[in-house]
Amino acid sequence: MRLPDKVNMGGVTVQLVSDEEAEKSSMVVCVPDTDVTPFSDKVKTTCAFCGRGIQHRPHAPKGPPKVCLKCVMETNSDTARTMTASRDHVHSILRGDSGEN
Ligand SMILES: [Zn+2]
Repeated sequence: MRLPDKVNMGGVTVQLVSDEEAEKSSMVVCVPDTDVTPFSDKVKTTCAFCGRGIQHRPHAPKGPPKVCLKCVMETNSDTARTMTASRDHVHSILRGDSGEN
């Protein structure tokens, strides 16, 4: 499956980049750890800004701080407009990769 360079996720245009480029991001946007996801391999942590419980996939970029979506939207609208995602990461979501293989 070939992915486009940009996808629309929840009304936000997300640029798909390589894992190396994703590692250079200023922050990683995460969903609350109370959200139900299809993934069994999620990693629970806390938002670097507000401290609420959040979750991410184990292959999320390691360097950038993990921040909840709410904080990203509230603190930096420029960041929210220029979100990127690892191409491999999005690919695994579209494949329905549960992390159990
Ligand atoms: Zn937060």
